[in-house]
Amino acid sequence: FLPYANLGLVIVDEEHDAGFKQDDRVHYQARDMSVVRGSLGKFPVVLASATPSIESHVNARTGRYRQIVLPGRFTGADLPDVKAIDLRRDPPEKGQWLSPVLVGALTETLAQRQQSLLFLNRRGYAPLTLCRACGHRLECPQCTAWLVEHRFRRRLNCHHCGFSLAMPEACPKCHEEGSLVACGPGVERVAEEVRERFPEARVALLSSDLIPGLEEMRQIIGEIESGEVDIIIGTQIVAKGHNFPLLATVGIVDGDLGLSMGADPRAGERTFQLLHQVTGRAGRAMTKGRGFVQTHMPDHPVMEAIISGDRESFLDREIDMRRRGLLPPFGRLAALVISARDKDLAEKFAREVARRAPPSDLISVLGPAEAPISVVRGRHRWRLLVKAPREANIQDYLRAWGEALPRIAGDLRLAVDVDPYNFL
Ligand SMILES: [Zn+2]
Ligand SMILES: [Zn+2]
Repeated sequence: FLPYANLGLVIVDEEHDAGFKQDDRVHYQARDMSVVRGSLGKFPVVLASATPSIESHVNARTGRYRQIVLPGRFTGADLPDVKAIDLRRDPPEKGQWLSPVLVGALTETLAQRQQSLLFLNRRGYAPLTLCRACGHRLECPQCTAWLVEHRFRRRLNCHHCGFSLAMPEACPKCHEEGSLVACGPGVERVAEEVRERFPEARVALLSSDLIPGLEEMRQIIGEIESGEVDIIIGTQIVAKGHNFPLLATVGIVDGDLGLSMGADPRAGERTFQLLHQVTGRAGRAMTKGRGFVQTHMPDHPVMEAIISGDRESFLDREIDMRRRGLLPPFGRLAALVISARDKDLAEKFAREVARRAPPSDLISVLGPAEAPISVVRGRHRWRLLVKAPREANIQDYLRAWGEALPRIAGDLRLAVDVDPYNFL
């Protein structure tokens, strides 16, 4: 959007990254906008990725984009061998999160004086805290979300609105002391298990909330690169941008985490991209690396694709599914999100919005339905989803719909998100 005097090339690196989609206030896809900008200015745009989006694959397959394949990794190293660890067959011990198979691989790697990385895309110590005495679960007062324990800071945080509370000594409901227990793992808890199992290992924990700034991040990355760390434990921030030359073994603590995203048509694609990227960190510079994915669903197509490395058949299947379901890029979606502090007001207005949808043979409107995260920052949320085939003009449809709506007054809000990436 900047007024460049003579822009001649745009390179979008990691073009599949969902971070290019802006869905706060002004909704747009920066990757797609750069393609539009290139087309207006008549200059080339390069979309680069080791795991391109389905949209870009389809554009390449149909000849709209030109595809340039880089056949090898830039270090010349082979892709790692990736294995699934079936958690139904090889579960971790009670209260632990690493399967004996993964513990074995870490032990071997340590013995060979090589580095391991454990990946879990969940900040904090535990995603849920409950009271052993009365069963009360600690929830955010402003959102439909559990409070996440951050043990290092001794706080409970809401990851949706930023609400934060000092870790209470007693249950806020029944006032029993010492009754609160942590359920499930976050990276801090995995780090705790690793320190207990491998007290001699040098451990680095990488999570955005634990690293104060860029300078500290650089220092930790420097220590990892120079071999001062044996086991790295991290969230999404370890997935990209850094090259760890000594890394031999990668373990995904919860491979299934991104797959239960409900209506999100990109859940499978995104999980594939993330797991591929993280397991691909192993064995970059030296010997062939190894990857392990802990999963309850080793037969899931995403897991099969990660393990076999057979990206093409996974893509064929995903593209076919999108085509049959008229999902992007074969159809267009738009989300309407209605919210208000008053629960009834939000629901009543959502139903009114649905009633006023212009009739159409091509375009269908799903909902209204309460959003999966039904309350955020004290606002009750309802959603509608518009589905249109490519040939229908969804913009005209939305404009006509907007004109048919009653005035949005007071505390009501209506957000229109064309090509949504967020379905919560
Ligand atoms: Zn209680
Ligand atoms: Zn909250």
